[in-house]
Amino acid sequence: MQPKGHFGVYGGQYVAETLMGPLQELAAAYDEAKKDPEFQREFQEILHDYVGRESPITVCKRLSAHLGGATIVLKREDLNHTGAHKVNNTIGQALLAKRMGKKRLIAETGAGMHGVATATVAALLGMPCEVYMGAIDVKRQSPNVERMQMLGAKVHAIEEGSATLKDAMNEALRDWVTNCDDTFYVIGTVAGPYPYPDMVRDFQRVIGDEARRQCLAKFGRLPDQAIACVGGGSNAMGLFAGFLDDKEVKLVGVEAGGKGIPSGEHAASINGGRLGVLHGAKTMLLQTDVGNIIDTYSVSAGLDYPGVGPEHCYLHDIGRAEYSVICDDEAIAAFDDLCRFEGIIPAMESSHALAEAIKRAPTLPKETILLVNLSGRGDKDMENIMAYKKARGLKG
Ligand SMILES: *Cc1c(COP(=O)(O)O)cnc(C)c1O
Repeated sequence: MQPKGHFGVYGGQYVAETLMGPLQELAAAYDEAKKDPEFQREFQEILHDYVGRESPITVCKRLSAHLGGATIVLKREDLNHTGAHKVNNTIGQALLAKRMGKKRLIAETGAGMHGVATATVAALLGMPCEVYMGAIDVKRQSPNVERMQMLGAKVHAIEEGSATLKDAMNEALRDWVTNCDDTFYVIGTVAGPYPYPDMVRDFQRVIGDEARRQCLAKFGRLPDQAIACVGGGSNAMGLFAGFLDDKEVKLVGVEAGGKGIPSGEHAASINGGRLGVLHGAKTMLLQTDVGNIIDTYSVSAGLDYPGVGPEHCYLHDIGRAEYSVICDDEAIAAFDDLCRFEGIIPAMESSHALAEAIKRAPTLPKETILLVNLSGRGDKDMENIMAYKKARGLKG
């Protein structure tokens, strides 16, 4: 057994002294809530009645036949209310906030999806919500800023530093230190100080638990591989959690390779980063020689976290999960394939996981089941994808 909050050398609580109290209060409240059947019942009820769970699994018949190998099966998080997996987690954290008597939600967001998911549950539960977002991201992701405002949240554009996600995280932490008596800080992925990585994994494990049950019911056995994209790592950790004890199921995380690792323009913290401290935890992250955080690059805005959840680093070290890299071009090609062969427009993030499955499928027999977590839908990415294709002379 590892000490609480640690995954090998990763994790921990690397925060200012003033935040230790609020983190202990949070950890204690979560421990209690986790064991309370009434808390779990309310969480499950909202996932069912509001999010529309459970989400189905879908066999990609035409795509698999085209590739001529393994059978690709999708876990359909794209069908959730708000169009992605993130809402599973924000519901869990907002319910915990309510239980702790906190009146106000704050969040940081990069591409804006976590901000939208937090604003959504804030409206649902009737709580005021403020979202910190780098000023550059506010410009780049204006539709999501409009969504958050539409839902009643206040968006703060942060001009400090590089005016992107890491600066928004700093501001959110600063707000929390100042207002922790009445404020709950909603983190969007399996990162941050303990207990966030554990808590977010637990709220997202509904993905893996459902998928495991659904595979057994549909195929009479478990998938051979479970594949998910990794930004901060919450959809992947949620999927993996359902299969961690099934040693025969290979777990595959897919990082965003952007223009390729050697180019330095990527978001691959495990494959192309080094050990450091970010957002209150020790983890693998993109940094300069002197330890300043480097901004990520990927065609997919949602894979923009400059670090990665500590549990992923640990699963990588002990060999329980493997982590590969998919570049922009491969993700775009996979996006096209799913549109044309299955009539599903995937999120660019999810297209990275799909691309890895598409790479692997032809080398494997038909009986092999590759379970891919389709973490979100791609409506939000249309403009971006059209621009990417136009710049490269690719056909729409
Ligand atoms: C935010 C996002 C991701 C990346 O976040 P994780 O914490 O790594 O899951 C992946 N897919 C979609 C659709 C997203 O919105």
